[in-house]
Amino acid sequence: MKVPCPTCERETEWSAASPYRPFCSERCRLIDLGAWLSEEHAIPGEPLDELPGAAEAVPPQRDPGSGA
Ligand SMILES: [Zn+2]
Repeated sequence: MKVPCPTCERETEWSAASPYRPFCSERCRLIDLGAWLSEEHAIPGEPLDELPGAAEAVPPQRDPGSGA
């Protein structure tokens, strides 16, 4: 099943393999989220330094480890 991405309208596969569905990518998801937030709250002068959940989506850094 394919659905159009709400942000860029590109056809995107709707499946468990698409973690950002119905968006085609994380970028489109964040763009739509940001647009929704700015419309909903409309806080003038509020710096958009951080999106909710964005930080938690970053996997923990792992040292590559220096081989023996
Ligand atoms: Zn998109």
